Amino acid sequence: MIDPKSNPSFDGHEDVVFVADEAAGLAAIVAIHSTALGPAAGGCRIWNYPSENDALTDVLRLSRGMTYKNAMAELPLGGGKAVIYKMGPDRVRTMQAFGDAVERIGGRYITAEDVGASVTDMRTIAGRTSYVAGIPKEEGQAGGDPSPWTALGAFLSIKSLLGGNVHGRTIAVQGVGAVGFHLCKLLNEDGAKLIIADVNKTNLARAETLGAEMAPVDQIHAVKADLFSPCALGAGLNEQTIPELGAPIICGAANNQLATEADGQRLVARGITYAPDYVVNAGGIISVSAEYLGESEAAVDARVRAIAPRLMKVLETAKSESITPQAAADRVVRERIRKH
Ligand code: NAD
Repeated sequence: MIDPKSNPSFDGHEDVVFVADEAAGLAAIVAIHSTALGPAAGGCRIWNYPSENDALTDVLRLSRGMTYKNAMAELPLGGGKAVIYKMGPDRVRTMQAFGDAVERIGGRYITAEDVGASVTDMRTIAGRTSYVAGIPKEEGQAGGDPSPWTALGAFLSIKSLLGGNVHGRTIAVQGVGAVGFHLCKLLNEDGAKLIIADVNKTNLARAETLGAEMAPVDQIHAVKADLFSPCALGAGLNEQTIPELGAPIICGAANNQLATEADGQRLVARGITYAPDYVVNAGGIISVSAEYLGESEAAVDARVRAIAPRLMKVLETAKSESITPQAAADRVVRERIRKH
């Protein structure tokens, strides 16, 4: 077995649990980065990794990221994540075995959906453990599709960054999937001009009904706009795209927008304001965790509305102390954990 401590992404994880259930054909890793602020919450990714070590690296990075996102959102939760890198022939049996593993961890880790995992999987897991979220509840209760909440947090952040009003302003949105489309709807309702790009024709056509102008997928970051909103995949802000950016402000919902730490510096050097992704896109985890924490929809709304003022504070700190917004955000989190 690999020693997780020798992985460069280990970063002081509290616990890394290797799960092997041969009878069910399951191989998984549960990474618990921090429980300082509460049980480690983060979804379960089902993915075909080239090796066990690749699975380990991914789960460690994702788990650490959840500590930062949850702490920044002021949730009573720590950070963790799981990856399933071998599925047995019977999906239900595999997910039951994973549920048993989560149960054995005894509540220090709470799972939910991530890439590759479905609501049906979570229901199966819930048959074996109560340490699971991401299962839609009755009307009026918190839970269900998190993307409208993620979009609301991003929309209010964009509004604040543009001085409280988006009317007549041009926003370039990269990726109009679940979050991107909801975001476009909110921007459109408030009178913003939209320029959009997506590789998926169906999603593109749906967003076009909002009167959006289309840009080529490889040009959307470069179009002239008041703000660029990455809502597709990660690492879109990199050595190649940063010199071409056409907007003075970046604020979107995509996870891990900066390809490397140096890209944060590159943006500063170009005088571009970057809203750190995990500050902006916390609406999803706020909604999913409310379901677990038993919070109401009104509480979720209040937590999501706290995102924009928090973002503006992070950006002020970055400016006054001449550090990158990402570094300013990370510092807030480390302080919060230290003071706890
Ligand atoms: P999604 O799959 O519904 O939408 C992503 C969209 O991006 C799709 O329409 C896809 O076709 C498009 N896309 C992919 N590659 C592209 C490219 N190169 N150029 C343009 N478009 C491209 O996913 P989503 O739930 O809307 O999430 C979007 C991003 O936000 C992801 O990075 C996700 O991790 C992050 N995020 C989502 C949530 C949530 O609540 N769903 C919460 C936090 C963060």
